[in-house]
Amino acid sequence: MRDFSIDTSSLSLNTATLGHNIPGYGAGWSTERVIDACAERKFGGITFWRPELEGKPLAAIGDRVRDAGMTVTGLCRSPFLVGPLAPSNKTEMLDDFKAAIDETSELGALCLTVLTGGVESETKGLNESIALVTELLNDAVNYASENGVSLALEPLHPVYGGNRSCIVTIRDAVEICNIIDNDFLGVAVDVYHVWWDMTVGEQLKKLSKDRILSFHLCDWLADTQDVLLDRGMMGDGVVDIRALRSRIERAGFDGFCEVEVFSAQNWWKKDPADVLDICVERYKTVC
Ligand code: ZN
Repeated sequence: MRDFSIDTSSLSLNTATLGHNIPGYGAGWSTERVIDACAERKFGGITFWRPELEGKPLAAIGDRVRDAGMTVTGLCRSPFLVGPLAPSNKTEMLDDFKAAIDETSELGALCLTVLTGGVESETKGLNESIALVTELLNDAVNYASENGVSLALEPLHPVYGGNRSCIVTIRDAVEICNIIDNDFLGVAVDVYHVWWDMTVGEQLKKLSKDRILSFHLCDWLADTQDVLLDRGMMGDGVVDIRALRSRIERAGFDGFCEVEVFSAQNWWKKDPADVLDICVERYKTVC
């Protein structure tokens, strides 16, 4: 297992941690300021959100990250593909999915995070939605691979099963990846979504080599107030993060570990400089 106490080269910031993904939250630092602040603290990478980069020169932002010695570890995210939060017009959804793939390529990011969306209207249970998602991903990954972009399918905690993700376990994400079987499709593992699942390690071992594309760090607070926007900073909750990382690394993962803390009432209200300092400290001590 890698020793994070002495080396932050695998530490990445997901800019959601600074509240950037939702208008009206966060301190409003510019993208450039975030890049410089991460570089100063020896982060190894940054993952951005599409809304915060809208209208900006993506290739130049990617270059700025790389010139600072870091990697663009990802771009968040695809549109929801199915379910109540997916664009009602399917053509629009597919166009936006393609645009997200193009943007990932332009930025030079390692992967595009894919969230599936929840249960499709007029259906019950997860099966039909999962089948639809498999079909859509099968097409999308062809376009992605032509553009050199990897898609990271992220299963969400079952609490989001209704609206945000019909894929609620690593098991189902791995199964879809193995059905489609394309080198450009893998999984994203997020502490928040999988910490309760004791089978994560053995499920991930069923994936082909190098298809664990990212690992998202945060914590599950024992007294969670809001399942979307009250994530804990690593060390503040109930997850044994190091044990989870060990299981994921035994399944072959050696990539970036990305801090992704959605926290409207706590971390998003703090000075981003302090938040970044604490990310580094917690990464070294509890991850
Ligand atoms: Zn995540």
